[in-house]
Amino acid sequence: ATPTALLVGTGRGAQLGIVVKGPEVLEQTRIVDTVVLDKTGTVTTGRMSLTGVVPGDGEDAAEVLRVAGALEDASEHPIARAVADAARARATQLPTVSDFANVAGSGVRGTVAGHPVLVGRPDLLAEHGMPLPDDLVAALRDARRTGTAVAVGWDGRARGVLAVADTVKDTSAEAVARLRGLGLRPVLLTGDNADVARSVAAEVGIDADDVVADVLPAGKVDAIRTLQHEGRTVAMVGDGVNDAAALAQADLGIALGTGTDVAIEASDLTLVRGDLRVAADAIRLARRTLRIIK
Ligand code: ADP
Ligand code: MG
Repeated sequence: ATPTALLVGTGRGAQLGIVVKGPEVLEQTRIVDTVVLDKTGTVTTGRMSLTGVVPGDGEDAAEVLRVAGALEDASEHPIARAVADAARARATQLPTVSDFANVAGSGVRGTVAGHPVLVGRPDLLAEHGMPLPDDLVAALRDARRTGTAVAVGWDGRARGVLAVADTVKDTSAEAVARLRGLGLRPVLLTGDNADVARSVAAEVGIDADDVVADVLPAGKVDAIRTLQHEGRTVAMVGDGVNDAAALAQADLGIALGTGTDVAIEASDLTLVRGDLRVAADAIRLARRTLRIIK
């Protein structure tokens, strides 16, 4: 390989808003044929807003939101921001939190005003002995038609369901079209539920068969490995803590500069502006650079 051409490629990348970890990274892009896209914060804006609060039987909606908001206030997850902002807008003061912990790709836990609280995927609550009662299962189903449903529980009982919704970035459909134009097969990968995942996929032009939903961070790694075992060479684009391991597993890891530091560290390329269309530019640039070298 001619180092000069690779360096020129790297310099051109910088102009496009692509930070390349090292010139040798570009060589890995040569045979990428599949591009796996994280949903939340990558294909969607990740700017979620609260669209509903459903308290369980005998519970108070304002309290469900206040408790969840207090806990989510300590998290940077887009869902957490939506919940905490809505709670702060409605309550003068949020209760105090201790022992806060993130459960990657699942939710948050901690002690709120002395009570152990969990907020996150309904599965997470069920695993901790707080399955949703029937009325909340129905609320969950409703919320999932339009967005993401998050369960809230404390003192060993599920207390309510919060609905949050996100919007697809206006550049995502074009980005998917450009990736297809390069002969790449786009796959949507998400920890979110299958209904939301399928509707986002339809909106941006990803086939329903190429949607992998409801996966934990380890499941994201498995999804990449499965594609690799099928003989595919995989690029992955992601932004979150929950994407870091999958970005490292991919043949080419592409982080959004708007994402978390761990995702950026695990990746080969970073798209400074968080515009997914630049992922296609990056792959095209790398291919062109390599053609010059060959
Ligand atoms: P994606 O894979 O699309 O980026 P995540 O892995 O970040 O999504 O989240 C997967 C699911 O985990 C969310 O849909 C939500 O149900 C739950 N979750 C993750 N973090 C939180 C949080 N801080 N609060 C509530 N729910 C969360
Ligand atoms: Mg994400």
